[in-house]
Amino acid sequence: ELAVQKFVYDFAEGNKDLKDLLGGKGANLAEMTNLGLPVPPGFTITTDACRHYLRHGTTPDGLDAEVTSHLAVIEKAIGRVLGDPADPLLVSVRSGSKFSMPGMMDTILNIGLSDDSVRGLAKQAGDDRFAWDSYRRLIQMFGKTVLGIGGEHFEHALDSAKKARGAASDTGLDADDLRNLTHSYKEIVREQAGRDFPQDPREQLDLAIRAVFNSWNADRAVLYRRQERIPADLGTAVNVVAMVFGNLGDDSGTGVGFTRDPGTGARGVYGDYLQNAQGEDVVAGIRNTVPLQDLEHLDKASYDELMSIMATLEGHYRDLCDIEFTIERGKLWMLQTRVGKRTAAAAFRIAAELADEGLIDMDEALTRVTGAELVRLMFPTFDTSANVARITVGVSASPGAAVGHAVFDSARAVELAAAGEAAILVRRETNPDDLNGMIAAKGVLTSRGGKTSHAAVVARGMGKPCVCGAEQLDVDIAARKFTAPGGITIAEGDVISIDGTSGEVYLGEVAVVPSAVVRYFEGELSPGSGEDGELIRAVRRIMTHADARRRLGVLANADNSPDAARARRFGAEGIGLVRTEHMFLGERRQLIEDLILAETDADRQRALAALETLQTGDFAEILTAMDGLPVTIRTIDPPLHEFLPDLTDLSVRVALEGDKATAREKRVLGEVRRMHEQNPMLGLRGVRLDLVIPGLFSMQVRAIAHASAQLKRAGKDPRAEIETPLVAAVQEMEVARGLTEKVLREVEAETGVHLNIPIGTMIEVPRGALTADSIAASAEFFSFGTNDLTQMTWGFSRDDVEAAFFAKYLQLGIFSVSPFETIDREGVGQLIELAVRKGRAARPGLVIGVCGEHGGDPDSVHFFHEVGLDNVSCSPFRVPVARLEAGRAAV
Ligand code: ADP
Ligand code: MG
Ligand code: MG
Repeated sequence: ELAVQKFVYDFAEGNKDLKDLLGGKGANLAEMTNLGLPVPPGFTITTDACRHYLRHGTTPDGLDAEVTSHLAVIEKAIGRVLGDPADPLLVSVRSGSKFSMPGMMDTILNIGLSDDSVRGLAKQAGDDRFAWDSYRRLIQMFGKTVLGIGGEHFEHALDSAKKARGAASDTGLDADDLRNLTHSYKEIVREQAGRDFPQDPREQLDLAIRAVFNSWNADRAVLYRRQERIPADLGTAVNVVAMVFGNLGDDSGTGVGFTRDPGTGARGVYGDYLQNAQGEDVVAGIRNTVPLQDLEHLDKASYDELMSIMATLEGHYRDLCDIEFTIERGKLWMLQTRVGKRTAAAAFRIAAELADEGLIDMDEALTRVTGAELVRLMFPTFDTSANVARITVGVSASPGAAVGHAVFDSARAVELAAAGEAAILVRRETNPDDLNGMIAAKGVLTSRGGKTSHAAVVARGMGKPCVCGAEQLDVDIAARKFTAPGGITIAEGDVISIDGTSGEVYLGEVAVVPSAVVRYFEGELSPGSGEDGELIRAVRRIMTHADARRRLGVLANADNSPDAARARRFGAEGIGLVRTEHMFLGERRQLIEDLILAETDADRQRALAALETLQTGDFAEILTAMDGLPVTIRTIDPPLHEFLPDLTDLSVRVALEGDKATAREKRVLGEVRRMHEQNPMLGLRGVRLDLVIPGLFSMQVRAIAHASAQLKRAGKDPRAEIETPLVAAVQEMEVARGLTEKVLREVEAETGVHLNIPIGTMIEVPRGALTADSIAASAEFFSFGTNDLTQMTWGFSRDDVEAAFFAKYLQLGIFSVSPFETIDREGVGQLIELAVRKGRAARPGLVIGVCGEHGGDPDSVHFFHEVGLDNVSCSPFRVPVARLEAGRAAV
């Protein structure tokens, strides 16, 4: 038996789950048809047919015959034949891929009209004007999309027709004007395309179908897919739908709507309606639309029916839906629906309120929001309640709000930053030479490029607000200025404000305020009425459920008590990483210098004792802020010369001073020379320091032990854990462990306080991961240092590669996101899985966590959940995001 592939589905044959095959529009038209909603008859040509066409340049065998038979079904249902001169059936030919790509591909309305059938249509409708209006629209759309004629040709002709008639808009043209316009349009087709507008309706249909297939590869569609990360090989389906007419007079019209407010998520109907209009007129802004609510007064019966349909759709899809509809002489027709896009705030509010309404349960609500959306809700926002002047809006490339003086090159940005002033770096586009400027600036604004441009990638990597591709801006680097619509000119030094979350650019300084959601996490705002109050109610409800569901613990990375306290307010259940080296900066550098310069044991002891007193205070503060919760303290990690003066700077200074250079300066220079390393990140750092300079390490352990003992005596509950970085071999761990235990026992003996301080290690060197079983014999817990592990597994210098070539790597598709941002499951992930397996085999119940920014990255959190880690640790600000994603991973 021969299996014949089916390329065409009647709307009654499809359903909403067939988006791969029928595209979103087709699948949802089928769903609405099967719900018994008023959808004009039609059929969908599958994405299979499109992919075949794009691959071979011809439509698959049998497609034409299938189209013929399905067309016959529509003709029968409507009682008209396509293009019949006496009483024509007209159809639209509409694109529609799996993922919505608004306005990116083509749709052609009124297929089936010709010089003959336009008269039949006029007669049947009793309306000449309407028939000619429909015909000129067909020639215009067909000319543009099928024959590739520039739209401006038609627009000019329309403008002259309006001018000749003194009409303000197209509705001011009468039947004669439109008939004449149709003739002009046909002339344009003949001149521009070198052929006549096809009069055969089936030829029109077949050409239109091919044009829609081709529109999958239109430049703008390709670009949009790249930005939105939609696969390039999906293809589009084609929907052929019997035309209904919103341009039949004032009892007709067309509209779009949302079942809730897609901006805030508030309940209630939102949308726009336009009388006596067809298709895109509503969104094209050719005439002023009225709010959808006004339809109630214009046509109560249609309005009521529409409200009931919108309720049906929400109930059925259990989500916010957007719709397109047309009213033809008082009869309502549904032309499209889909689960609608929404802002981050609306996503939270809609999910929580749908759960309140019983349409979804809380697990489902949790899947309806994302950590990325929560991140957006946590960025500081511009206070736009005051009077603000918006200059333009570009691509929202890297979220956050920034205010500063416009500068047009890196050098100037660096100068301003050095003078303590805020700069916004404005460029046409950025390249690696602009890196210094990007680092120095508070934000970046470019007039070219999308979400994967150099500016966008680098800014996101740095967490710096960026608006790119603000194409309305004319940036003149040489003249150090840019111009914007409305005759605005911004010169170097003028203050501008950019909002990387929305892509908006403002003139002057717009005040920045912490977002409502952050103020809620801080305990400053609570649920209430109004937009913020409702949003907070939704966030609280969803976060509570995420906490109830998650298996992963969420800890924070914090080095001081204010950060620790904030992390606790944000829901951290402890500290997963205290970086002690941050405590050696500033004035304390001097003490490290003393230690390195020490010539006698007494000198060394003196330096260590001074450091120990300070460190004991540091640890006591953090342990107090996190009383009763675990605090993992990592002993010193970076190469010591990071605390000494820079080699070049110091050499120059000593040389310039000549004889006046002090003995100490010369000795420091000697030490800096001696300690200089070619690859410091692979040099004397981490556990290697503990083994080579044991006094420093033991001092830290002693400080932790004393701080713990003090607090215990004071009746507190300190839960310190000591962690050794960079272990690659169990022998290193054993030495470090021996040193640690020795100090702990000494302090116990000195103070008479029993200390229960677990000793563990970071797994961040590939060899550490590979030998995790033997290391687990000596380490009581693991924490993956995924930054170093990524750096060493890829052989990427984290400090260099992002700016040097990551934009290129992203473009080439070597990865779709930086492996420092989202864990590389395929490579680094394997090492993690292996180390988890081996570690737990050697020590059942081994507690394993992860620290480093991956701990707060949504995708990575899911991975850590999947491979069975116990906790993730991230910066305080990321704690809520990790909680949410850990909950989402668990449902
Ligand atoms: P897009 O995907 O860009 O929204 P559509 O295929 O939805 O494009 O069509 C563009 C416009 O034409 C929409 O406003 C739609 O409602 C309208 N339209 C499409 N098909 C028909 C039809 N058969 N009758 C009336 N209007 C239609
Ligand atoms: Mg549409
Ligand atoms: Mg590390």
